[in-house]
Amino acid sequence: MPRLLRVWKVKAESKVQFFIWTLIQNRLWTADRLQRRGWEHQATCCACDQVLESANHIILGCPFAKEVWYLMANQFSNAAAVALQSSSVNTWWDKTFKLKQKGVLLDECTGAAYVAWNLWNERNRQIFQNQQRSAAGICSLIRDELGLLKEAWE
Ligand SMILES: [Zn+2]
Repeated sequence: MPRLLRVWKVKAESKVQFFIWTLIQNRLWTADRLQRRGWEHQATCCACDQVLESANHIILGCPFAKEVWYLMANQFSNAAAVALQSSSVNTWWDKTFKLKQKGVLLDECTGAAYVAWNLWNERNRQIFQNQQRSAAGICSLIRDELGLLKEAWE
């Protein structure tokens, strides 16, 4: 199955599937892409203030993202290990998709999709609402969201 179509097989809400579909085509409006178009963008990543923001950086490379993945390892150890070892969204996603399990409600692939989705949401809150949460704060948001989903799916 073509890799873009596989996104719709992930057990996740459609907004999260669509986010992953956009992410793996590098079509999110991150600062590197805004800069290439000559559009307004923030100079550096809002979480670490160190480098120009890109999709690879927000989801994988940023020290803040790494902290979130690290904290999520007690629930999704394989997904966290894959994320912590990957520097490109594409190789990360190919390996993450292989963690999908039949008959498991919250498999590691679903967990990873929601971590990435919440990292993107946090980035948007920082830019557009000037709000900042800790890595532990993001993790409790992710766990709450997944807990609700599990209830809804059961
Ligand atoms: Zn950063």
